[in-house]
Amino acid sequence: MNQKIAIVTGGAGFLGSHLCDKFIKENCKVICIDNLITGNPNNIAHLFGNPNFEFIKHDITNYIFVPGQVDYILHFASPASPIDYLKLPIQTLKVGSLGTHKVLGLAKEKKARILLASTSEVYGDPNIHPQKEDYWGNVNPVGPRGVYDEAKRFAEAITMAYNRYHGVDTRIVRIFNTYGPRMRLNDGRALPAFVDQALKNEDITVFGDGTQTRSFCYVDDLVDGIYKLLMSDEIYPVNIGNPDEITIKQFAEEVIRITGTKSKIVYKELPEDDPKVRQPDISKAKSLLNWFPKIGREEGLKRTIDYFLEQRKIS
Ligand code: UDP
Repeated sequence: MNQKIAIVTGGAGFLGSHLCDKFIKENCKVICIDNLITGNPNNIAHLFGNPNFEFIKHDITNYIFVPGQVDYILHFASPASPIDYLKLPIQTLKVGSLGTHKVLGLAKEKKARILLASTSEVYGDPNIHPQKEDYWGNVNPVGPRGVYDEAKRFAEAITMAYNRYHGVDTRIVRIFNTYGPRMRLNDGRALPAFVDQALKNEDITVFGDGTQTRSFCYVDDLVDGIYKLLMSDEIYPVNIGNPDEITIKQFAEEVIRITGTKSKIVYKELPEDDPKVRQPDISKAKSLLNWFPKIGREEGLKRTIDYFLEQRKIS
């Protein structure tokens, strides 16, 4: 059988590295491309030496030549936490626009199927709740989050254009808040921040009054949904996330309970344009892909906390 070859951009990142693992498990050869500005080689260290794995350090906003056959491209390169894209606004815009253009060109050349990692951020601070794929969103293009939101909206538009005008075989996943091992403790997101603070018995910093909501999906569920979407025929965006919605204050309390920390909640200023609610409507993924999340927050949090504890021992 002809072995499939998959490129994962951002393959040394949190989600990208789990996708590298998944495609290797599915007997593919994986080419991981990452410029390591937010990715971490430790996430893929276990794959070095595997004959089915190759790593290329490259900034995908620049042209790349890949010799030979390519069957799948998973475009996951981008700063993705609010702190990262606020620190790296131009790189975020460039990888979403120029980077997506480059990988679409590569997909066209290789006649490969390409899956774009889009985001619930395309819905902005949503006026429709929960968010369904046919909602066009409420994004502030000139606000601080605009660099990520608009880059991903452009990425979706150019992906559809390559599908319609160049016949490229495309897929778009809209990823909602995801967590699990290989997240960076210092990526600024609520989940690693709260766990880190809890493990150090430091104050837990809830932004605003904590009534804003999020819905957290465990990484294994997400990877499973992405794989099913790639193998499906659906060219329009599909939400993948866990609809179990919680306020950020309740979530902080949950982390306190599960870790048994002495930490107390303190309240800090809410960042500009912070979405007030977020919950995926996953009826499309359910009916189309027969996909739904299986790992609840309690179990997922325990596995993630174990990973963070392990990391602390190593460092
Ligand atoms: N948040 C918080 N404390 C933190 C980090 C984040 O209260 O230390 C809040 C943040 O304002 C947002 C929610 O938690 O309302 C989720 O933020 P995160 O950075 O995880 O990602 P987002 O869902 O906003 O992209």
